[in-house]
Amino acid sequence: MKLISKSRFLEYLTCPKDAWFRLHMPKLDEFVVSATEQNIMDQGNIVEEYAKRLKIFSGFVPAFTEGEVKEVKRSEVLVRENVAVIYQPTFIVDGYIIRCDFIVWNAETLKYDLYEVKATNSLKDKDRPHDHISDITFQSIVLEKYGIDIGKKFIVHLNSEYVRGNELDVENLFVVEDCTEKVSDKKDVVAQQMQKAKEYLGQEKEPADGCKCNFYGRSRHCATFKRSHPEIPEYSVHDLSRIGLSPDKLVELVEKKTYLLHEIDDTSDLSVTQQNQIHTHKTNEEIIDIKEIAKILDGYTYPLYFFDYETFAPAIPAYKGYKPYQRIPIQFSLHIIDKKGGDLRHVEYLHQENSDPSVVVAKKLEEYIDPVGTILAWNDSFEKGVTKEIGERLPQYEPVVTRICEQMHDLMDIFSQQHYVHKDFKGKASIEKVMNVLLPEMTYDDLPYTGNAVGYVWWQDIVNEDKEPNERAKKLNLLLEYCKQDTFVMVEIFKILENIVNKNLK
Ligand code: SF4
Repeated sequence: MKLISKSRFLEYLTCPKDAWFRLHMPKLDEFVVSATEQNIMDQGNIVEEYAKRLKIFSGFVPAFTEGEVKEVKRSEVLVRENVAVIYQPTFIVDGYIIRCDFIVWNAETLKYDLYEVKATNSLKDKDRPHDHISDITFQSIVLEKYGIDIGKKFIVHLNSEYVRGNELDVENLFVVEDCTEKVSDKKDVVAQQMQKAKEYLGQEKEPADGCKCNFYGRSRHCATFKRSHPEIPEYSVHDLSRIGLSPDKLVELVEKKTYLLHEIDDTSDLSVTQQNQIHTHKTNEEIIDIKEIAKILDGYTYPLYFFDYETFAPAIPAYKGYKPYQRIPIQFSLHIIDKKGGDLRHVEYLHQENSDPSVVVAKKLEEYIDPVGTILAWNDSFEKGVTKEIGERLPQYEPVVTRICEQMHDLMDIFSQQHYVHKDFKGKASIEKVMNVLLPEMTYDDLPYTGNAVGYVWWQDIVNEDKEPNERAKKLNLLLEYCKQDTFVMVEIFKILENIVNKNLK
């Protein structure tokens, strides 16, 4: 029988079927780790490295060695020798396997205390799958089964209020929370869940039941959804915009086996966005509210600035003034049209040294963006948020960032507010969906860039003088190209909208 690790158990709490696939068929294509997932894992490992510097763990002895069995033996020896701080002790008992973060000998209670390090900004003790209390309770039950009487149970997580000074203060970066009582309150429930997990995950053949996501919207579906529900098409009622907020309607449709959008007869109890999504799908007609689009465009003032940031939010604050997971604005792109019908020009900035870019970014924005004019972003809450944070770090730039935020408008509004709906937007208003429909000749395919996580890794290479110069230059150009393309796409979409208005109203 395959051993059940803490990860599999927590996955089981979220979804038994998914946990079964991961335990029995870990090599499925669906489980190939994405760049975002890899980044989350990397951040977790980095946080653990910093946690090792905490005074409570000083002098720790690592238990890991090659192979599970050897690791268990070594852990056992270290415990028998009463080593004060043991890092990653591993134990196997009763079909379960755990690798704890730290166990620390408590000279008062004459027991080991258990410490679990988490790369989160909070305790996550709400009673839901993947909460940290279930996690540490699982470990303490396994330790108990193994014959190790654990005293206190602690979660060590990041301190969301911590602001980095010149140096990183590790003792203040982390919060150590005593969860002993919470663990004991949860112990019986988790013990029962562990037993059920063992029975379910112990099935050698794929369980026929277990995947209930056919009653939930697409965002809830995991990568193996299609294996359990081959009857549900790629584009289905599960893709109706925000259908997760109308669970009764989705259940009704699924129970009637109404999977395709054009099979939905009664749309009266659906939202306007959902109705539009279905209508455009059925009729193959666009919805374009020219008057509303014209009103929005008329509200813009020249010069027009098409603006986009690239940021990264590391768990460990990299520079003075940053909190855990606060966004570092490593670059921006700005396309500018100075007057109606005027030429397009482009400016950009990519920070090329290993330091906080905030001051240079604030100065450049002040230099490039006049106090008169409209700044257009796509989903502007992101750009506004990053800009506001610059002002919080640099009070001398507060007036500049405030006026920049005030000048900012969201070009996406035209699409998210349903003034322009195309069946192939599929109920969404992301720049990619809109670009694919309105600018089919444009693509990101020749830019091998898969999001912020990769961007930050590249940026770290760019600012690292020990890296090979050609490689650094290549990554620099790709990052510039990618960000430039984002704002160029916005310009082209704006022009299309302007043309539609001009043709029909002027
Ligand atoms: S689609 Fe949902 S219910 Fe099905 S296996 Fe994935 S998470 Fe579980």
